[in-house]
Amino acid sequence: MAENIPVSGPSITQKEIDYVADAAAHAWYKDANMYHERFEKAFAEYVGVKYAMALPSCTSAIHLALLALGVGPGDEVIVPDITWIASAAPIHYVGATVVFADIDPLTWCMSAESFQSCITERTKAVIPVDLYGNIPDMDAIRRIAKDHHIAIIEDAAEAIGSEYGGQKAGSLGDVGVFSFHGSKTMTTGEGGMLVTDSKDIFDRSSFLRDHGRIPGDRMFYNAEVAYKYKMSSMQAALGLAQLERIEELVNRKREIFSWYKEELHGIADLTLNCEHPGTKNTYWMVTVVVNSERNIKKEYLMDQLAQKNIDTRPFFHPLSSIPAYADVPRRAKEENPVSYAISPYGINLPCGMNITQDQVRYVCSQLVNIINKY
Ligand SMILES: *Cc1c(COP(=O)(O)O)cnc(C)c1O
Repeated sequence: MAENIPVSGPSITQKEIDYVADAAAHAWYKDANMYHERFEKAFAEYVGVKYAMALPSCTSAIHLALLALGVGPGDEVIVPDITWIASAAPIHYVGATVVFADIDPLTWCMSAESFQSCITERTKAVIPVDLYGNIPDMDAIRRIAKDHHIAIIEDAAEAIGSEYGGQKAGSLGDVGVFSFHGSKTMTTGEGGMLVTDSKDIFDRSSFLRDHGRIPGDRMFYNAEVAYKYKMSSMQAALGLAQLERIEELVNRKREIFSWYKEELHGIADLTLNCEHPGTKNTYWMVTVVVNSERNIKKEYLMDQLAQKNIDTRPFFHPLSSIPAYADVPRRAKEENPVSYAISPYGINLPCGMNITQDQVRYVCSQLVNIINKY
């Protein structure tokens, strides 16, 4: 098979093209916000929260959430060591200190026990991440957070449509954040969403994302120096079209995962994403971890698969191990053994929306070959 198989990518139909064209033609003057309003309303309904705010990225959503919660210099914020850097970088933007918690060996999401062990009197917030579409033990995390008056920002960037105890991902903390980057399950090209049930958090975020203008301000008379975080109406139109197809998109991700599960079932030393009872995983990234006893590193696997025209990504490196966090006070290798034990041996397999079952078969046969030959 000569054609390159991409690791991820969206599903765009005529509906998306029509909505974007309509926004470009008509979302101006009195209708400038019509697509934002429809997108935000439909999104809040889908997630099951009161408020939703369309933003240029998930990174900006986390930044606003931290600001709205009053997190700043002197405060500590706990994030899992295994996640995309966007979960953690905004902690730096507000001048707070990042603390990396270990992950759970089964869900690969933040471990509730490790979260508890990271808490100090300075801990102000925690950012649990719904890694690769899975959801951490939110019952335990919420209990611990409540006991210590710690706010929860749920990073659901990778988990639109996932569920925990019948509740949708993004609705499980004080604030939820989503990404619509082109690699994510639903996309607006670039984009994000902040969701919450708290009027205070929503109002403060609305103010901060619009250069500190009091809502309804017609005099351009800014009350504070703040930020400019807005999505364009063309992106909102694209997002609305994707959201109207969300069941199809989520089902497609689950179907792709089921193909991999079928192909790799019974192959020794390989572990795929898990789905606990009570959780619905939407498998943003089909991920395979090779038993560490085989000592087959992710770099080797990625290189070998690339030679077969198969595009993959590494399991996230522990953030505490990468150059960007070389100066983090808490060097986490000893404290976060699970993160360091799993990360070297995991890769994300191709699971773009347009992948076919034949391509999945090809990827799996190549993967098994590479492992057997090692
Ligand atoms: C993609 C992603 C983000 C960042 O999203 P952007 O829209 O690119 O800012 C944040 N957190 C996680 C876990 C992600 O996967």
